[in-house]
Amino acid sequence: MSGADLGHPLQLGIELPVSAADPGAAVRLARRAEELGLDLVVVADGTDDGGALDAWTVLGAVAGATGRVDLATRGLRLDGRPPAVLARAVASLDHLAGGRVTPGLAAGTGGADADDALDALAEGVDVLRGMWAAAEPGPLVHEGRHHRVPGAQRGPAPAHELALWLGATPGSADDGARTLAARVADGWWLPTAGGAEGAQGARARLDAVRREQAALDAALTAAGRDAREVRRGLVLDGASLALDPRAVDATAAPSAPVVDHLAALVLDAGVGTLVLAGADEAALVAFARVGAAVRDRVAAARAARGTRVGTVRSAAVRAARVPGIDYDGIPAALTRTAVEPGDAGYAAVRSTYMRGGRPGLVLRPGDTAEVVEALAYARAQDVPLAIRSGGHGISGRSTNDGGIVLDLSRMSAIEVLDVATRRIRVQPGARWGEVAAALHPYGWALSSGDYGGVGVGGLATAGGIGFLAREHGLTLDHLRAAEVVLADGSVVRASDDENADLFWGVRGAGANLGIVTSFEFEVDEVGDVGFAQLVLDASDTEQFLVDYGATVESAPRDTTAFLIMGPPRGGIVAAQIMAMVDSDDPQTIIERLNPFARIAPLLQQQVQVVPYPAVVSVPQRHTSEGEPVTRSGMAEHLTPELAADAARLVRSGATPFFQIRAAGGAVHDVPADATAYAHRSANFSIVAMGSSRRRIDALWDAMAHHFHGAYLSFETDPRPERLADVFPGPTLERLRELKRRYDPEDVFRHNYSVAEPPAVVP
Ligand SMILES: Cc1cc2nc3c(=O)[nH]c(=O)nc-3n(C[C@H](O)[C@H](O)[C@H](O)COP(=O)(O)OP(=O)(O)OC[C@H]3O[C@@H](n4cnc5c(N)ncnc54)[C@H](O)[C@@H]3O)c2cc1C
Repeated sequence: MSGADLGHPLQLGIELPVSAADPGAAVRLARRAEELGLDLVVVADGTDDGGALDAWTVLGAVAGATGRVDLATRGLRLDGRPPAVLARAVASLDHLAGGRVTPGLAAGTGGADADDALDALAEGVDVLRGMWAAAEPGPLVHEGRHHRVPGAQRGPAPAHELALWLGATPGSADDGARTLAARVADGWWLPTAGGAEGAQGARARLDAVRREQAALDAALTAAGRDAREVRRGLVLDGASLALDPRAVDATAAPSAPVVDHLAALVLDAGVGTLVLAGADEAALVAFARVGAAVRDRVAAARAARGTRVGTVRSAAVRAARVPGIDYDGIPAALTRTAVEPGDAGYAAVRSTYMRGGRPGLVLRPGDTAEVVEALAYARAQDVPLAIRSGGHGISGRSTNDGGIVLDLSRMSAIEVLDVATRRIRVQPGARWGEVAAALHPYGWALSSGDYGGVGVGGLATAGGIGFLAREHGLTLDHLRAAEVVLADGSVVRASDDENADLFWGVRGAGANLGIVTSFEFEVDEVGDVGFAQLVLDASDTEQFLVDYGATVESAPRDTTAFLIMGPPRGGIVAAQIMAMVDSDDPQTIIERLNPFARIAPLLQQQVQVVPYPAVVSVPQRHTSEGEPVTRSGMAEHLTPELAADAARLVRSGATPFFQIRAAGGAVHDVPADATAYAHRSANFSIVAMGSSRRRIDALWDAMAHHFHGAYLSFETDPRPERLADVFPGPTLERLRELKRRYDPEDVFRHNYSVAEPPAVVP
């Protein structure tokens, strides 16, 4: 008979009523449970009562009405719910509810078909997990006896690493369900515990639960799993508990026998999740009061016994862990959303847009307090640390091999602070396409870049050269204040009035100084814009580049153009110009674009008047493998000498993507020493992407004398000399002084550290 405390964090919950006679009851009680501090609400399926509401639909309504409690099902049946469809529903609700969903399934029918029903459930579990593995290549194909999925598009992946629970259905073969759970489940709903009242009933229940636990433990051992890998939940009937709600008023102490009994179920019978069924509001209040006493009792006993509290991951997950990371020490607030190499969600988070990675752990804090916890934890590990917002860093330093990634993508709120001053607050994980869409209804926009998938955190701390740059400056020129988590875990506000030196550094070298957890920007009035894509024959590349440079420099500031070129095809070098004119007047747009169209023979043209968000819409997520190879240079003018070398580079075939961005206009209005982005005199930011580091470096180094520095966001050359290109002399000196003060141990060292000497990696 099992008598062990499995050390699972104690969860207290309530099973919600699902009667069609009172459809609002579930939401009412769920809200009350949340107010009372319970952890979980459960909706049970599997009753064949025609008057019962559909469990999944009820859970959706409850999700929308609550914000904190976990949302679980019990006994959800797959007959009538094709698992591929249910997988999408579960993952979708998990997203809508902020990662709170725990599905609990059971076999469909009992009796003579019990084995078949279990087979169907086992297949259903495979299909669900296959659907949730969104980053696996190809569609899901499942040709089973009970479920057929000819080729379903996988995804979405759930918002967190879902725990899948199983349970026995009344009348079905418990042994079979238990054996299946021992093989595949993360949690097990023990058979419902009713029974007699009083001490005798409590003893009988404790014995019955222990017998059940022993049977499950044996099945787990047979399946080669640790007993602590599977949480155990018990649904209790309030009446049989002798939990007389009407006797427990606000002042009376909770009845000691009930507390003793519930604590014994946890401490002596290994139950981690206690759920009260059939409760009305009074019973719920009583249970919450009793529950608080049970929590204290369990915590005290565990402290005295030295019980390690936590959930043990599967042997496969444990086997995929990397050395140097204390996985058992992950702060409790972060465990739910943390992703490690053996997790189903790992494939979706390990790499970035530009670079493949295999981190040992991805932590996904949801607020500033969790960022502080995550940073303290990460600092205590002996592995590299990467900070990620949108994951579009060109150098790919927001992933690593074997280290920790602090991923801020869950912190993506965008809010308007003050309409009169056009002040907004944005969290780092938001994407620029989302920012554009949120601002458009106000007739506003914030200069960002040319790609809606790029994240706020990386771009706004480095520069932000976008389609509004010549008219409105860099993204960081619009920053008015930032909240920064420093290396020592302190949270500070940086602005012109508070920590002004840090504010200076955050605008261009933010990644060196801390983790920015919120940005306050002043945005601009921008309505519909003219957006053009012109393709010209730039086969006379050298002359084309000189003329293009002159055209950009003489264009009014409302016009910002980016040029992309690749190797010659069929003897022709094609130049694609993407230009945005901040005007919705067709005549003005045509006037601005004509000089560009006349530079060389026009092969294609497309001009539209569109809302700004259409220029930077959010694309599908994409990740890469391998190492990115780019070089960056800032130039004041496209001189004939620079144009000649650039033409040679383009013709060499070494760069499939050669880009020149206009970086002048309003960017020049800010003095070079006003921010840590110092390239204020440059009219152009130039980047070449390639596949061979050696080849690109050789060609680029030979033309380096044309450039006055490099843009951090587009540079990937790891040689130390690049630091002085990115941060010219006086800027680097000042940054080093800030680094000594704000990050003396060079915690933030992985993206062009300014420390002297830089700390040894990791
Ligand atoms: C397709 C594409 C288009 C682009 N277009 C433009 C453009 O038009 N204009 C332009 O200026 N740039 C552009 N970039 C470059 C872009 O500015 C940088 O790559 C930027 O770092 C991406 O931000 P992110 O949050 O998505 O990146 P991440 O990969 O998440 O972060 C990049 C780095 O920034 C640092 N960092 C991230 N978040 C924070 C934070 N919250 N606090 C402190 N440091 C942090 C880290 O060091 C991290 O390694 C483009 C990049 C791509 C891939």
